[in-house]
Amino acid sequence: MSDWPKIERVETYTLRVPLRRPISDALYHRTHWHIPVVEISTDDGLTGTGYSGVWAGDDLLCATIDRYLAPMLAGRDATAIGELWDQMYWSPLHWVARAGVAHMALGMVDTALWDLAARRAGLPLWRMLGGRHRRLETYNTDGGWLNFSLDELISDTCAMAEAGWKRVKLKVGGDNLASDLERVRRVQEALPAGVGIMVDANQAWDRVTARTAARGLADLGVGWLEEPLHPDDVAGHAELRSACPLPVALGENVYSLEAFTAFVRADAVDVVQVDVTRVAGVTEWLRIAHLAQANGLWVVPHAGDMMQVHQHLVAGVGAAKPAMVEYLPWGLEAFAEPVHVADGVLTLPDAPGASSAIAPEARRRWEARESEPR
Ligand code: MG
Repeated sequence: MSDWPKIERVETYTLRVPLRRPISDALYHRTHWHIPVVEISTDDGLTGTGYSGVWAGDDLLCATIDRYLAPMLAGRDATAIGELWDQMYWSPLHWVARAGVAHMALGMVDTALWDLAARRAGLPLWRMLGGRHRRLETYNTDGGWLNFSLDELISDTCAMAEAGWKRVKLKVGGDNLASDLERVRRVQEALPAGVGIMVDANQAWDRVTARTAARGLADLGVGWLEEPLHPDDVAGHAELRSACPLPVALGENVYSLEAFTAFVRADAVDVVQVDVTRVAGVTEWLRIAHLAQANGLWVVPHAGDMMQVHQHLVAGVGAAKPAMVEYLPWGLEAFAEPVHVADGVLTLPDAPGASSAIAPEARRRWEARESEPR
């Protein structure tokens, strides 16, 4: 009989949070952001929270936890995170969803267990991980959408620069490459000197288009080219990277350590955008970040978690050049302790845990009912 805390309760629910304004990239047009949540409580009275961030399928993630993972967790030692991760990863679900739904559901549980562990230690997660950075640079993604007119694009990105951001990201991959390049050029002309631009094609291009685009974007001095090709095309990214001086960023649709390893081995990526809500939680995120760092790559996560958990991970592992996260502020009101960002700089929190807890008021306002369409 040990004194380790036992898992007593596993509860899921999902929030559908309205966006401030509708947005489009090369793949989707959306009005709401979905946040499926898992809360795990132990017999010593603590609760940890994990979540994901998706456009659809939030019900599938919750159902996977309810039907398959929660029974594996009942009565188990909540501190044995690695052991539980292995057992969930190698469960028979492996056959049907080694990446995607089952893997992301495992990630939600894993993040909840890390939040719980940090709360039990009385430390913010970033300090438990080693605490390398107290402040992080952020780059702003929330103004460069494809559905914005050129005037909106310019006024939004200039407002970001005015508010202190040193880097902004624009979406490309529309119907017309010349128009994409023109939009980037016009924004660049309008922004104050010293504000950098990155671009994101959201998988829209084939290899030929990507090569042409990359040359034009490199001439404009763009900081990185994100997701130019299908996220499984390792050879295509390697070929593009060797043909063009522009850094290649990817990772928001790469779902496992093994998939990231293939990109690293093929010299197919410069900026590793591993997202804790797409891989299997904090445990796998850390493995991938260490892989990237050992290969001299920059780790700048895609913020599917709205920065809440990633702030701890980047601050903890010391991803430099500089240490940076994506600023994506949708649904920050959903969280009990939303990130603190001022002048484009994020200051790390002191409260114990992974900043993943949901605000009770947010649950009352936005929890999805079973009868709602998905
Ligand atoms: Mg992206």
